[in-house]
Amino acid sequence: MPGPQHRVKDIGEFELIDRLTKTLPEAARADPGVAIGIGDDAAVWTPNAGMSIVVTTDALVEDVHFRLDWTDWTSLGHKTMAVNLSDIAAMGARPRVATIVLGLTGKELVTDIEALYVGAGRLAAAHGVVIAGGDVVRVPHDLTLGVTVLGEVAPGRVLTRSGAQPGDLIVVSGTLGASAAGMALLERGSDRSASGSLLAGAHLRPNPRIALGQILFAQSVTATMDLSDGLLGDLPKILEASGVSADLDVSALPILPALRALFPADFEQLALRGGEDYELLMTVPADRFEGLRERASQIAATLTPIGKIAPADGGNRLDLVKDGMPYRSETGAFDHFG
Ligand SMILES: [Mg+2]
Repeated sequence: MPGPQHRVKDIGEFELIDRLTKTLPEAARADPGVAIGIGDDAAVWTPNAGMSIVVTTDALVEDVHFRLDWTDWTSLGHKTMAVNLSDIAAMGARPRVATIVLGLTGKELVTDIEALYVGAGRLAAAHGVVIAGGDVVRVPHDLTLGVTVLGEVAPGRVLTRSGAQPGDLIVVSGTLGASAAGMALLERGSDRSASGSLLAGAHLRPNPRIALGQILFAQSVTATMDLSDGLLGDLPKILEASGVSADLDVSALPILPALRALFPADFEQLALRGGEDYELLMTVPADRFEGLRERASQIAATLTPIGKIAPADGGNRLDLVKDGMPYRSETGAFDHFG
């Protein structure tokens, strides 16, 4: 048995896969629909009858998407799984099966990679997702983590970016900017206060809005996406896909008190342009919003209207106002130290 100091290169690929498989919670290892999981040439999964299959894939690369001196390994595993589950949530689908590719240098401690699997496996199990396979490959420098998730949704109940209509309210779940603020604090390496931990946690362990995604179609939501590139980075994607414009009210943005307190000069920019919140952005007919909010509150999801969809007017205009006055903002990702 490898001890705590053993590195990946000290044990074989097959022993590593064996050990990783054993770290997975039972609920992430077996499912009646998965006839063949880890251990054969490929996995075999039977979706529920009549369902469409939804597929998404996303990779995280060391020093591009994460820094090992900012994150613990369990959180890294959580986040790698979360960013993929978030895309499934944004389609209104239920995630079912995942595969994981680990690109490792070999210098990693075996116990660290096991912790990574604990984080990924726990989140998968919490959402009824089976980890049905994957691959381990050697990379020369930077750790690379890839996840593919398969989900299912009834045909005709898929949520896309293209259905927003003039007059619809623009609505966002949870709060905005916490993840980018948390990253800025981690970069600084200083803040150990409760507020600092809250924001860092939002960056390291985002919660995919799976349950919320699954109620949206029934509540007449017209367009949905998840927020990975910041509100001002992502909302234009809905406007272009739907052929509409939008007016956004900056004073209505949901922002944590902790974020306002720790970033008094920047909180609005963090909320507008900070990435990786993994909240759901959606549009809904104005007369359906209260029903939607009521239904969301039953699953402990908070929703905030932040603007309104307008006709295209020859382009996909996005105007910001604050307290009734035009508000100017740069677009693109917000870099706190840029
Ligand atoms: Mg997405």
